[in-house]
Amino acid sequence: MKKFDYEEIVGHSLIQKKLCQAVSCDRVVSAYLFCGSPGIGKKTVARAFAASLLCQAPHNGKPCHTCASCRLLASGNHPDLITLQAPTDKKSIGVEPVREQIVKEAYIRPFHAGRKVFIIESSELLTVEAQNALLKILEEPPAYAVFLLLAPSADQLLQTVLSRCLKFQFLPLSDDVCRSYFSKQEAENSRKELAATFSQGIIGRGLTILKDEEYYQLYQKTLAQLADFPSSSTALPRLQQFFIQNRERIDDVIDFMLNFLRDCMRQKISKNPKLICADNQATIERFANAYSPGSLVRMMEAVVSFRTRLSKNASFTVAGLELLTKMQEEIHD
Ligand SMILES: [Zn+2]
Repeated sequence: MKKFDYEEIVGHSLIQKKLCQAVSCDRVVSAYLFCGSPGIGKKTVARAFAASLLCQAPHNGKPCHTCASCRLLASGNHPDLITLQAPTDKKSIGVEPVREQIVKEAYIRPFHAGRKVFIIESSELLTVEAQNALLKILEEPPAYAVFLLLAPSADQLLQTVLSRCLKFQFLPLSDDVCRSYFSKQEAENSRKELAATFSQGIIGRGLTILKDEEYYQLYQKTLAQLADFPSSSTALPRLQQFFIQNRERIDDVIDFMLNFLRDCMRQKISKNPKLICADNQATIERFANAYSPGSLVRMMEAVVSFRTRLSKNASFTVAGLELLTKMQEEIHD
């Protein structure tokens, strides 16, 4: 069950304060844009803010959790909260869902609350046509409607849409906040420690490595592949097999490789490196000792280029071979 409460939010205290003030001082605007990396807390904040907007008796701008509206939200059936989620393929959100679920709905008065709240997750996926359809309602919104647009960055949104939204930028949290949050979770200490370093200020990222066993195993397997590089001549062909076996999750594999290579670079240049893959320190040390800083940088560039090629629909096999060839040049240099 999704929670609709400020208690659920980790950090972002200034944003919380401003949103609560907007409700308590009745200075709510009709459209907000929450920007920040996936997992940073945009949805959690949007849900808490939506709850306070719909609550019949908010206290200091926070939902009361007892009124009819709050109870409806808790049951998951509030008719005045409409969420437009990204499609499962995560490719794009076309004009049809925007017209049907947002624009049409916005002209229907609220059933329960004095307001009607629309959360548009993954707004960056809205096509230009979809954004233009949304723009019409943003330009002349009904007085009761509040639109919350969520996106990693404002770059993919049209200037005309941006100009209608009050923007809040979500920044990564401090190490201390993350460490304290993950120390309270149920898990082995080493895993909690990894979650804190791996999060890099983004709670959702740390939670994934803490709770998603498959993701955690893939992380360990990717690092085990790289661990062999300095000592084994068959490491590269094995990495190629590994890519093919994990083709469906190649984005995660690429992320793990980049985190690892960045750690090796930190290990190389700093006396007290703050590692992301803190649980694999010995492997990182060995790898960093085996290669020059220049080699590490070129390996990172090769991995980034692999990702770019895949995002442009290059052949998986060709792009993979290109990466392996570049890595081979560095290994045997
Ligand atoms: Zn309430």
